[in-house]
Amino acid sequence: MKKVLSARIRQVSIVFLCGLFSSLSFSEVMTGTLDIVIEDYFLEERSKTEYYLTTTEARRFRLALPKTLATQEFIRGMAVTIEGTVRGHPSGKVSSSLQVIDVISVHRVFSESRQIKKHNSANENRKLVTFLVSFRDKAIDLFTNVDKADVDLFTGVKSVNNLVWKSSFEQLKFERDVDNDGMADIFEIYLDYDIGDTCDAYQWARDTEQAAANLGVDISLYQHRLFLVPESIGCGWGGIANVGCQNYCRAWVRWHKSPFIYAHELGHNLDFQHAGVDFNNDGVIENEYGDQSGIMGAGQWYPHEINAPHRIQKHWYDTVPNIVKEVSSTSVETLTAMQKGPFLDDPNVQLLTIPIPNNNEKYYVTYHLPYYSPFGVERKYAHYVLVHRYSTGKTKTRLVAVLGPGEILSDLSNQIYIEVLSNDFLSADVQVTIGQ
Ligand SMILES: [Zn+2]
Repeated sequence: MKKVLSARIRQVSIVFLCGLFSSLSFSEVMTGTLDIVIEDYFLEERSKTEYYLTTTEARRFRLALPKTLATQEFIRGMAVTIEGTVRGHPSGKVSSSLQVIDVISVHRVFSESRQIKKHNSANENRKLVTFLVSFRDKAIDLFTNVDKADVDLFTGVKSVNNLVWKSSFEQLKFERDVDNDGMADIFEIYLDYDIGDTCDAYQWARDTEQAAANLGVDISLYQHRLFLVPESIGCGWGGIANVGCQNYCRAWVRWHKSPFIYAHELGHNLDFQHAGVDFNNDGVIENEYGDQSGIMGAGQWYPHEINAPHRIQKHWYDTVPNIVKEVSSTSVETLTAMQKGPFLDDPNVQLLTIPIPNNNEKYYVTYHLPYYSPFGVERKYAHYVLVHRYSTGKTKTRLVAVLGPGEILSDLSNQIYIEVLSNDFLSADVQVTIGQ
């Protein structure tokens, strides 16, 4: 009896909706795990997030969620029961064979044996496998080959791995050679069928993984699976990715001229949302990719770093607390450029955090260099103080101000004023005024 109790399942209702759909009489209840995929339409400056349910019977559905649902509470891999009605026809986008559930309610199922980690611990070696996928009618682009992917992901000075390693203060990296054969785990896969203008990322992923297994690749070794697919495929996105990564996760990249998109999609795997701009500081993001000071904004040829609020999200500053200072009363602070990093001589404060009263957001204030061994920010932010605003978890970060000497961010409603008094190459003096 005790065993049964210890393995019991508690149901915690995180969302309950009744309303429009409650009058439908054909609803059913299904149990399974939640999957989250974000689609990046960089050129159109928009993204789309799709939610899926994989049932305990291994059936997969796309979820049509009511707009009022608090999806920021959703975690990929979360066990849920869903009440809804299954539409009788297949849907489009990610998989043409998927049926859609019009969701009425979602309940989180809490199994004590399967708690999802709140955040990742320090010193993580993420195991990454990369596939260059060609089809019978569409080959991977000519300039994309194993050697170039190796440079872009691992060995280049501006590689994704170097940038993640540096931005995480040497706590997270992607392992290059998990199978320990002396070579990067990057494989060319040929799928012997025509895809025409279809866009079925999950089907291609499953076929690629099966083909790789047939070639002797042990797919179970890898937590992150990155698929480089031909640019000419029939998908509008530049890249898509699972948001979050439990046992394993996938990311797909269609544009691989620039390694930036590898970093961006793997960033989604690491739980990051987009880095937008909100220059009038009204809480409404003008462009969700507009912040080019980190990988979760767009418009960069080489990836730069990971912005300060995203490092906060991952708790990376916890190991270097001497470079962070919380400011809650009026003061003048000297801010050393973030690109200097915590491990060089005599690091000074590189991040100011300013709590916003009656709000779970803070301001994050950083100073930036255009280049620095070997990462920097876009030139338009070089030698400027950046002010971000962010709450917690998987919410978007907002760049609210780019300040040069003499410039000020005035948040009148919260009586917070951030002014750059002066700057030199490596640092800036910032006056923070709180209250009247
Ligand atoms: Zn994205």
